[in-house]
Amino acid sequence: MAKRVTKGFADKMSKALKDSKKHCAVCGEPIELVKHVVTQKVTVSDTIRFKEKMVGVCNCNRNEIYK
Ligand SMILES: [Zn+2]
Repeated sequence: MAKRVTKGFADKMSKALKDSKKHCAVCGEPIELVKHVVTQKVTVSDTIRFKEKMVGVCNCNRNEIYK
């Protein structure tokens, strides 16, 4: 007897993918996650550090992120 797990699993996956796409409450655009590298100057040692962080980009902050 064949188990019918595949369909249920696919449903679950597509649902999870859909849910992972967040929409901005302000502009209503789907929020895109991008890796954003910020430079940080450490005043104590006078060195520059690079910090990577994931940021959600939508219409509201796109201009700030993509300079
Ligand atoms: Zn927005």
